[in-house]
Amino acid sequence: MQDLKPFKLKLEALKAEITHRISAIDKDIRHEGMSADWAEQASERENDEVLESLGHSSSHNLIMINNALKRIDSGEYFNCSHCGEAIPTARLELLPFTTSCVNCAEKFEH
Ligand SMILES: [Zn+2]
Repeated sequence: MQDLKPFKLKLEALKAEITHRISAIDKDIRHEGMSADWAEQASERENDEVLESLGHSSSHNLIMINNALKRIDSGEYFNCSHCGEAIPTARLELLPFTTSCVNCAEKFEH
């Protein structure tokens, strides 16, 4: 039985970081605490599009992390969600929120 704890801690740290990033981006988009400087406001607006796409990928990552945490709780974390084969620990260390083995990732995620 492999030790889930380091993966769980890693995922929880990632989750905290991404949650923080999403709320920071939200604030930026709403221009909370915006400076009174007009030139700066204009360039802040130009950044909105970039921020929104960043926010989008962060939300996507958050979904994947929550999914991985659920898989830890249900004991499925080390198994591929497609074929049920074990996912190598080295892969999970690199991509702690992955849900598939290398073969299935190549088949389904491209
Ligand atoms: Zn697989």
